[in-house]
Amino acid sequence: MANSAGKFGPYPASASAASPAPARGANTARLPVRQQTGAELIRSRIALRVRLAVLAPGERLPDTGVIAEELGMSEMTVRRALETMCQDGLLDRRRGRVGGTFIASNWDEIAAAFRDEEQAASLEDFHLLLECGLVARSADELPPNWDSGLLAVVDEMNAADDHAELLRLETCFHLGLAEALGNGMAGEQVADLLGRLCLLAAVPAPGLLQERNKHHADLLAALELGRLDAAVGAVKAHQVGRGVGVGV
Ligand SMILES: [Zn+2]
Repeated sequence: MANSAGKFGPYPASASAASPAPARGANTARLPVRQQTGAELIRSRIALRVRLAVLAPGERLPDTGVIAEELGMSEMTVRRALETMCQDGLLDRRRGRVGGTFIASNWDEIAAAFRDEEQAASLEDFHLLLECGLVARSADELPPNWDSGLLAVVDEMNAADDHAELLRLETCFHLGLAEALGNGMAGEQVADLLGRLCLLAAVPAPGLLQERNKHHADLLAALELGRLDAAVGAVKAHQVGRGVGVGV
């Protein structure tokens, strides 16, 4: 179909007679989810590592060359991204013999200043879309024991009461799900989304995280039984319940 804005016009082709006007509702006003720049990717991957407790507040970052290689970026891009994060207060640069670039010791406090509800809602919606797709695609094609790691995360979450640990496990579950169902295609995408959400989304309260863990268990049980409708239902119930955040 011809796009009135030309070959490189915006998508969707606006005001096309073939597309009905969007219904009014919360989901129609979302910002589009765009690709991250190199600097944004570095920022979100660092945020994800802090959430996963791979990097702790106050800990020294690896050298820029190591980060560059790991993320497939140029060292220049990494240096610029780290510089911006230093200016934002998320990282600390120290000179001298024991110098280097460190995760800010008050990371959580600084990170809270970058919350953006609207952007977070768009990313959450996109995450929902990906998870529903992954669940549907994998129905009846799951290898034996595909969920053993995920069941362990659900159990650990049931036993945990520390807030940081609950947040870590919550993120682990969704990364693990993308790895388990995505045939190596969705892990990176979901890591990108979750990394961005570490900075943009409000932090759910511990009670809410524990409560939402039942959706994880429901999802795994439904997939194991090959019940696609119930599995998609659990993914959607989990996102609906993402609800109210707390400060930090
Ligand atoms: Zn979850």
